Formats: sequence, C-alpha cells, structure tokens
Amino acid sequence: MTDCIFCKIAAGEIPTEKIFEDDNVVAFPDINPVAPVHVIIIPKRHFATTLDMSDEAPELFGSLMKAASDTARKKGIDGSGFRLIFNTNADGGQEIFHVHMHLLGGEPIGRMRER
Ligand code: 5GP
Ligand code: ZN
Repeated sequence: MTDCIFCKIAAGEIPTEKIFEDDNVVAFPDINPVAPVHVIIIPKRHFATTLDMSDEAPELFGSLMKAASDTARKKGIDGSGFRLIFNTNADGGQEIFHVHMHLLGGEPIGRMRER
C-alpha cells in the first residue's frame, strides 16, 4: 500500500536491520523501544488491523508466531521470557495501521494491573 511506512520497510524502500525475514514476514527493531528488546514483526502483505488479517489470511498469525520464536532465540531471551502484543484500533492503542506484533523482553515487562 502506498504511504504505509511498514509496507515500505517490508519492500526495502526504507532501510532497516532485518532481524528475521521469510517469504511472508519481516521483523525489525522498533524505532522507539520501550524495552531492551523491542522488535516489530509484520506480514509483508498489507492488512490495516488484526481484524482484517483474521478475515483474509488467518494463517499469517502462525507465520508471525514463528518469526517471534526465532527472533526471541536469536536475541537470547527465549529462556528469560518475553511478551507479544497486538494493538487493534483506538482503545488498543494502534498507531500504525499495518498489522504488527510487538515482541518485548530483556527485562521484566511488568504485570498487567487490575483496574
Ligand atoms: P502501535 O501503537 O501502532 O501498536 O505501534 C507502532 C510502533 O511502531 C511504535 O512502537 C513505534 O515506535 C513504531 N514505529 C513507528 N514508526 C516506525 C518506523 O518508521 N520504523 C520503526 N522501526 N518503527 C516505527
Ligand atoms: Zn502496509
């Protein structure tokens, strides 16, 4: 999709370190990391939200998980642990409307709090 920053990263039009890449998926460091390890994992195909990808290509969630596991091992945080997050739409805090998974680790990420 034109004017989608993550499509441009996937296409190599914006250079970034590629931590993982296969036919369907690419993983790269978040530009504003909130943890010592903060990796963004995206499908190369453009879907605005997890809702769209669930409808059109749910199998790609498996590809994202495979990339997350590979990335966690590569970064040496498979044993210490990590958190995977998808933000969807406004209340989920989604800012970039190209499906992406956040992989966070390298320190305790903190518990989700009761309200
Ligand atoms: P969201 O809030 O949409 O789930 O998260 C978007 C994430 O993408 C944010 O953590 C933000 O720091 C990251 N991000 C935004 N623009 C860029 C960029 O141009 N390059 C990289 N590597 N990360 C980006
Ligand atoms: Zn896109």
